[in-house]
This record gives sequence, structure tokens and C-alpha cells, in this order.
Amino acid sequence: MLEGKIAVITGGTRGIGFATVKKFLKEGATVVLFGSSDSSVSKALAKLKEDNPKYEVSGMSPDLTSLKSVQSAIDQIYKKYGKIDILVNNAGVSSSKSFYDYEEDEFDKIMGINLKGMFTASKAVVNYMKENGGGVILNTSSMVSIYGQAAGIAYPTSKFAVNGFTKSLARELGKDHIRVNAVAPGVIHTDMVDALPEDVVKYLLTTIPIGRIGEPEDIANMFAF
Ligand code: NAD
Repeated sequence: MLEGKIAVITGGTRGIGFATVKKFLKEGATVVLFGSSDSSVSKALAKLKEDNPKYEVSGMSPDLTSLKSVQSAIDQIYKKYGKIDILVNNAGVSSSKSFYDYEEDEFDKIMGINLKGMFTASKAVVNYMKENGGGVILNTSSMVSIYGQAAGIAYPTSKFAVNGFTKSLARELGKDHIRVNAVAPGVIHTDMVDALPEDVVKYLLTTIPIGRIGEPEDIANMFAF
């Protein structure tokens, strides 16, 4: 399905991002994954190569909160492959602290990765996509962008912003054949959900009609679609 495509996937070292990298590779894409550190990137690449040594995959760890850093990584990818077809903005962080205890630094950190990180990576690829006649930008929203969340204020706020960014950018870039979409996962079995208190997970399960938490592959399939 993705033969010949060059894809960049942020937060590709674990969880939903890692499953998406794997799915894209299986579908024939060449993937560059971004992670938060060189060591997490190396670990993820080693796992993928173990799975299939033929996978066309490499990795980098730019600072997603700095356009300069992300642009330099994207420029290197463009120089190597001559195009970028797909960007998946998946990197994300959360916290479920009460608003009374919420600190300014935490707010900035979560907005920095979840919101600004999506801006920097999208900004870094759009000129290359336009030059090549189009492309696809996929953002990672969340069900909390619809319902809100009764703790951890920056996380749901950032996900409402993901929807606004996605809808607005889709309107602006459609004329250049750049499609911008978002996937809004429910509760998915990753480190992010493993970090939640057990009673919260138990409660969440009662709200899911099919009675099970989603797997990262469920979302990877959506991104591939
Ligand atoms: P995860 O914690 O397993 O993975 C997060 C990814 O983001 C990692 O690959 C990590 O390297 C990257 N990341 C974190 N901090 C970073 C930083 N400072 N710089 C660069 N990369 C950084 O989480 P996940 O559950 O796989 O989440 C992936 C995306 O899916 C996030 O945007 C999250 O908000 C969203 N999401 C997850 C769920 C869920 O239930 N797990 C539900 C809805 C939305």
C-alpha cells in the first residue's frame, strides 16, 4: 500500500508510533522515525532490524520544540531521498495531575511537544511536499479532544488544539494537494496508559462498549489507511 513512499514518524520509538513505523514498513514505505534521544532511537531501530533486516528504516532525535532543529533533520532526509510523502505527528506526553497542583513548567512541556512539535514538523515538511505536488500530514489527537478530561489540563487542551490545527491546515493546504487529517485514539495499551492509576484504567474500561483497551496496531492501521 505504501511502496515507494518516504514517511517521517515522530515519537516512533515505542507505543503507537512504533507500531505505526512497523505497519508502514510492512506496507513497503521507507521510514525515518524521530525519538526523544539517540539511545531510544537506536533501541527501536535494533528491534525493527531484528524483525526484518530488509526494512528501510533510520532514525533521528531532533528537538521537536525547535523549528531549527527539526528543519535541519527534515532537510537531511530530503537531501537523501529527494521527497517526503508522509508526516505522522505522533510524539506526545501527558500528565494527569490535578489543576491545583499543576505547574507552569509541566504546562509548557506538554504544549511544547504535543502542540508546538506538530507545528515545527509540519512547517519543516510543507515546502518539500508542495514542491513534489503534494503529501499527507497525519496528526494524533485523542478522544479527550471531544470529551475533555477531569485532570491533567494541558493534555486535553493540547488535543483540542490538535483538532483545530488539523482542520485549519487542511483548509489552507488542500489547494496544494497536501491532505491533513487526525486520528483520535481511545484508550490504547501503551506506556502512557500503563502509567495511569489502576482505578482510572478500571473506570475507563467500563466506558468502552467492546470491553477491551485498544492495541497500538489498531491505530497504526488507521494511520496506514
Ligand atoms: P508513549 O508514551 O508510548 O510514546 C510516546 C512517544 O512520544 C514516544 O515514542 C516518545 O519517544 C515520544 N516523545 C515523548 N517525549 C518526547 C520528546 N520530548 N521529544 C520527542 N519525542 C518524544 O505514548 P503513546 O500512547 O504511544 O502515545 C502516542 C500518541 O498517541 C501521543 O500523541 C498520545 O497523546 C496519543 N494518544 C495515546 C492514547 C493512549 O491511550 N495511549 C490515547 C489517545 C491519544
